[in-house]
Amino acid sequence: RERIGKLEWLIPEVDEMLGGGVETQSITEVYGEFGAGKSQITHQLSVNVQLPPEQGGLGGSVIFIDSEDTFRPERIEEMLFGLEDDVLQAAMDQREIEGSIDDEEARDELLQSFLDKIHVAKAFNSNHQILLAEKAQEIASEYEDSEFPVRLLCVDSLTAHFRAEYVGRGELANRQQKLNKHLHDLDRVGNLYNAAVVVTNQVQSNPDAFFGDPTKPIGGNILGHKSTFRMYLRKSKGNKRIVKLVDAPNLPDGEAVMRVTGEGLKP
Ligand code: ATP
Repeated sequence: RERIGKLEWLIPEVDEMLGGGVETQSITEVYGEFGAGKSQITHQLSVNVQLPPEQGGLGGSVIFIDSEDTFRPERIEEMLFGLEDDVLQAAMDQREIEGSIDDEEARDELLQSFLDKIHVAKAFNSNHQILLAEKAQEIASEYEDSEFPVRLLCVDSLTAHFRAEYVGRGELANRQQKLNKHLHDLDRVGNLYNAAVVVTNQVQSNPDAFFGDPTKPIGGNILGHKSTFRMYLRKSKGNKRIVKLVDAPNLPDGEAVMRVTGEGLKP
């Protein structure tokens, strides 16, 4: 079994709270209301994971299962070039790209190289999403001995399709069973290939819902059991966001503040 890796958000307060960053071989669930910034986190981590370990990354590539059509290459570009110059330079050296970070050609090459390492798959419905998680194992296996092995598996959003398709109390058990199998597959990729698994989840949106706590993530206990790290994301003033660690093994609960900016997530 390989050593557990830590993928940094590059936000000291958050990384400290996480004991160094998002762990490989675990599922991290990020949940929060719409617009809280869950997709911003999956994008930022898709950039950061590719960086060399000295820069907070894991020198790895990404499988990004996109169920709500949220993946934006332009956002990757903004976040990449929002990194500090020395980090960008290290990324160029790592990829043996000639030239300086001010050189347009070199920048284009660097961006293309980052985008190439994010394997995006759109999930059209929950069954397709389950299939893509099975397929993720094959992709991770294919890249296992490459220069950039898969070190991050994102599912954004984990629950949207399930929630839309399995409606009503009568479908709840069925939904949970399918979600459970899906999480098991995701967990397997993380464990077998030493990848961090990051999934997003919305909080129950209807405060008048007949059942369910409006401040609780969709999926209830089963999801709570499977995702080892659970983080609640909440809007604050302006572009500020509160990141709360709710449940983690061997770590105290805590809160950290970050900002969502044009150049990505910042302290
Ligand atoms: P949902 O549940 O609806 O998918 P989410 O939690 O995934 O929402 P995101 O799409 O990650 O939310 O975040 C949207 C927020 O991120 C916007 O409200 C905005 O504040 C911020 N944001 C997105 N893009 C930019 C940008 N280019 N510059 C600055 N802020 C941005």
